[in-house]
Amino acid sequence: MSQDELQKLINLISRLPGIGQRSAQRIALYLIKNKQELMLPLGDSVKETAAVIKKCDNCGILDVIIPCKICSSDNRSKKTICIVEDMADVWAFERSGYHKGLYHVIGGLLSAAKNFTEQDLKLNKLRERIEINQAQEIILALSATIEGQTTALVIKDALESLNIKITQLAYGVPVGSEIHYLDDNTLGAALESRKNLG
Ligand SMILES: [Zn+2]
Repeated sequence: MSQDELQKLINLISRLPGIGQRSAQRIALYLIKNKQELMLPLGDSVKETAAVIKKCDNCGILDVIIPCKICSSDNRSKKTICIVEDMADVWAFERSGYHKGLYHVIGGLLSAAKNFTEQDLKLNKLRERIEINQAQEIILALSATIEGQTTALVIKDALESLNIKITQLAYGVPVGSEIHYLDDNTLGAALESRKNLG
């Protein structure tokens, strides 16, 4: 491998979240040292995943089939839709096993700095899903940060006319924390103690 290709690899790794140049160099060296059992399978896996991964048109979940496994499952209740920021939050809820309904992945939180606006929340799609599924409850499971709570209020206002129960995760979620970092029990307790918003 020429220096240019190695440098390119390091530069790409350093663009991953939370990874600087020094960490990227260490990771690149580790990959090279474990070429057969890690570097080559990782390269294949990245390519294969990129080729098949899709975002569910209904709920925004990442899956290899559309509609996703959760939207197309007969075992999930269509009456409850849990609104989360991203896929890591879906994984956290699925790990805990407490939520038996559907999801709506909004893909970000309202933020002028990140240029994430109300249009990005795809609230029309959410309203459409609530009507099609005759959903009875929306659970707002957004991070207990200012951006998370602002987003929750905007969603609540947008659904006001639908006459649907809107709940929000309650105690158990520490202020300033992100949903996908919670342990299973904390997340479960927070989901079970949800309360009406406003
Ligand atoms: Zn889906």
